[in-house]
Amino acid sequence: MAKLTVRDLDVRGKRVFMRVDYNVPLEERDGQMVITDNTRIVETLPTLKCLIEKGARVILTAHLGRPKGKREATMSLQPVSVRLQELLGRPVSFVGDCIGESVEKAAMAMKDGDILLLENVRYYAEEEANDAGFAAKLAKVAEVYVNDAFGAAHRAHASTEGVARVVTGRGGVAAAGLLMERELKFLGDELENPARPFVVILGGAKVSDKIKVIDRLLEKADSILIGGAMAYTFKLAHGIATGKSLVEPDFQATALAAEKKAAQLKVDFQLPTDTVVATPVDTGKLNKKGKPVFEMTQVRVVKGGIPADAEGFSIGPETAAHFAKIIQGAKTILWNGPMGMFEDARFAEGTNVVARAVVDATVKNGAKSIIGGGDSVKALNKAGLGDKVTFMSTGGGASLEFLEGAVLPGVAALSDKR
Ligand code: AMP
Repeated sequence: MAKLTVRDLDVRGKRVFMRVDYNVPLEERDGQMVITDNTRIVETLPTLKCLIEKGARVILTAHLGRPKGKREATMSLQPVSVRLQELLGRPVSFVGDCIGESVEKAAMAMKDGDILLLENVRYYAEEEANDAGFAAKLAKVAEVYVNDAFGAAHRAHASTEGVARVVTGRGGVAAAGLLMERELKFLGDELENPARPFVVILGGAKVSDKIKVIDRLLEKADSILIGGAMAYTFKLAHGIATGKSLVEPDFQATALAAEKKAAQLKVDFQLPTDTVVATPVDTGKLNKKGKPVFEMTQVRVVKGGIPADAEGFSIGPETAAHFAKIIQGAKTILWNGPMGMFEDARFAEGTNVVARAVVDATVKNGAKSIIGGGDSVKALNKAGLGDKVTFMSTGGGASLEFLEGAVLPGVAALSDKR
């Protein structure tokens, strides 16, 4: 059933406890923590503006990094309150805790339209444990609960699930923010009955990470295009040489089962026909994590098997062109996972060709293009095409679990629309 959203709420004068995803990247400069990418803050502005207009008193809660239940000064949300204030163009108060007297005092002093940001909720280990007592403490200042942190909705933590249960348990409502609403619409509703042809592009590192998504989407898609290192496990399962490529030998049977299911369901299941490979040479140096650093030499394109001394790093040009053709004819596209190690320019072209085809289909063909979060979002942004697709998910793990058909605890805890 559809979930209640902030649009449905009458919240004038009410304290709205809102979970957001402010897990922004920070860098230390001259002893100060500086936000290097404020996308996650910007993304909450529509919901905040909606609530301000409705006269709510908004108490924001979020996590930052992994402080593991301890106060960690470098993971304070204080710099976020400053940036949010700039972006919103109105005052944002900050409290150096997320529970207790200081929070209650600040919350009780709020006026309609005020915004208050609480300190990192993961300074308490009880957050990730979804401790009932801690959830009750957080909920003390909440009259209404809103969740706009889709990226954290796959975790049943106190601030993503527990508080919602406390609020609804005492007769209040728990609603989705506008960002969460869009995620549920595009990753959920829009893919239930997609306009056809529905083309699914899956890449990334491992079959094991994506198999549940493949399995579920096989029942809906017209074509599934497989790229990334994941493709090498399929190769291996067919007895084709994979050289030094990343493979998961234990998942060969899984890969073959997916192909068999595709044949049964008459889904056009495409694997790469050529590969960009390189020969890794040990430099004798170690990286920051103490792992040996390899130099990639002799970058070249091979068809069929991968030579014993070589490692696959991307789909080749023939595969990219073939995938692009299929994508250009699509009416609905779902893309999750890059076609290769796009972070290195020598291996980015296959991913970029696919990205351009997705944009072409969107712009010229009116296709709905949905990018399922994580590294495909990074790849599109890197290619400067992020704003040319229909929707880019803000979740990584959450998007993947949602696409697998899993019930996300943070979504399940929200009130149904009546
Ligand atoms: P995932 O998180 O599973 O979507 O994987 C994304 C990561 O997989 C990216 O960092 C890519 O660089 C990496 N990747 C994709 N294709 C390959 C490949 N052929 N070889 C090594 N790494 C790859």
